[in-house]
Amino acid sequence: MKSELPVQILKTIREMQEVSEKFRCEAKKIAVVPTMGYLHNGHMSLIERASSLADIVITTIFVNPTQFGPNEDFTRYPRDFEHDKVVAHTAGSDIIFYPDAEEIYPTGFSSIVEVEGASNILEGAFRPKHFKGVTTIVVKLLNITKPHIAVFGQKDAQQAFLIRKMVRDLNFDVDIIIAPIVREADGLAMSSRNMYLNETERKNALVLFRSLQHAAERIRQGERSIALLRKEMLNIIQSGAPTQIDYIAFVNPATFSETEHLNQPEILVALAVRFGTTRLIDNSLIPIVP
Ligand code: AMP
Repeated sequence: MKSELPVQILKTIREMQEVSEKFRCEAKKIAVVPTMGYLHNGHMSLIERASSLADIVITTIFVNPTQFGPNEDFTRYPRDFEHDKVVAHTAGSDIIFYPDAEEIYPTGFSSIVEVEGASNILEGAFRPKHFKGVTTIVVKLLNITKPHIAVFGQKDAQQAFLIRKMVRDLNFDVDIIIAPIVREADGLAMSSRNMYLNETERKNALVLFRSLQHAAERIRQGERSIALLRKEMLNIIQSGAPTQIDYIAFVNPATFSETEHLNQPEILVALAVRFGTTRLIDNSLIPIVP
């Protein structure tokens, strides 16, 4: 928690790079938390984690147009910078990097960073250019903020995997920290998109966490049939009247490939389900005790 100084807001790349360079010269450890804003307790937990690990915390707030598909929610994505300033500062952010789209994507911009393979399954299958947009903006934000540490959330498990892989593949000199999912008291994973849900959808969306808890309990009891577990989860999710179930996936977290076997130390169960027009994702990393 910080309360003395107001958070510093930087809007240009040059300023941000200069400020980070100055902190680096002073041997200060810098952590960055990239976000799209409309900050909630999940984002706060990332900023608090960053604050516990570094001298200077930069929160970036940028609704990145290139990671949204043509029929997705870019224009209606919630934005509230005044609220975000308070939340970021309270959680321990020293600086907010808050650029305009033209600052990030000037006319003529044409470079892309892509992690091949795991970018095209699950979220990537339903959101074809999404991860190209994500990995490209993350590289840009790393080059702009020059952090020693970057903190992301396990809520976006595939994104976390791809960013770790990209940083390893391309030898970025930054530690990637993945922080656990923060949930509402009733289990719904916090998300800026939860505000789209009406009262009934909000209640129905609890089936996501319930189905993940069910899978964890059944695996703990010794169930090893993915087909059966998926069927049981499907039943639970269908009881919440979803408009569409995009996937219920059992993923080997080491490779991020879908698996039909429960013979590794842990399994990532990942979901994408639509309630009304709102698409929600959730996941759980479940230990498999032999
Ligand atoms: P977003 O603003 O949705 O792009 O998210 C920014 C960062 O916050 C990403 O690394 C997300 O994975 C993370 N995040 C979003 N929701 C949660 C949550 N409920 N718990 C933990 N981290 C989250």
